Amino acid sequence: MTTITFVQGDITRQSADAIVNAANSSLLGGGGVDGAIHRRGGPAILADCRKLRASHYGRGLSTGKAVATTAGDLDARWVIHTVGPRFTREEDRSELLASCYRESLRVADELGARTVAFPAVSAGIYGWPMEDAARIAVETVRATDTAVEEVRFVLFDERAYEAFAAQLR
Ligand code: ADP
Repeated sequence: MTTITFVQGDITRQSADAIVNAANSSLLGGGGVDGAIHRRGGPAILADCRKLRASHYGRGLSTGKAVATTAGDLDARWVIHTVGPRFTREEDRSELLASCYRESLRVADELGARTVAFPAVSAGIYGWPMEDAARIAVETVRATDTAVEEVRFVLFDERAYEAFAAQLR
């Protein structure tokens, strides 16, 4: 049984077994939550990402997939990097966004993570409308069979928090 919780705050300040990063396919850092995770987590995370690029992910991580690294100095054991789809009105990419949550939970299960903190993947620089991003996130986690005991959505601002919390009502 997975409990879903919501908090407003900075995901890099959370204590959890795994913290999910809304990465880009390069895995080599970016803006938004990605930049914040690398800044606070220190160079060990990027070092691990470079190793992944040099081994199995020569062309980067595909959209909708997830992969784990150390969490460096963060109060977590792992960072799970996932690549959300950019929002576009021309094409429905909801299934790729749902895949980010499913794949991250699959990786969490492989690691044995019991608590996992997620940001609002794709809802920042990648432009996904917050209400829709929240609906896909919560519906997907609810529908996923996982041994993770707590999925905590960590929303950066009040608008995001309200959009996610509204999914429980
Ligand atoms: P994407 O490129 O997938 O859209 P972003 O990092 O730009 O990723 O944004 C995803 C969400 O994460 C946005 O709602 C943004 O406000 C939020 N965010 C940015 N920094 C943090 C942080 N430190 N903790 C939690 N959420 C954050």
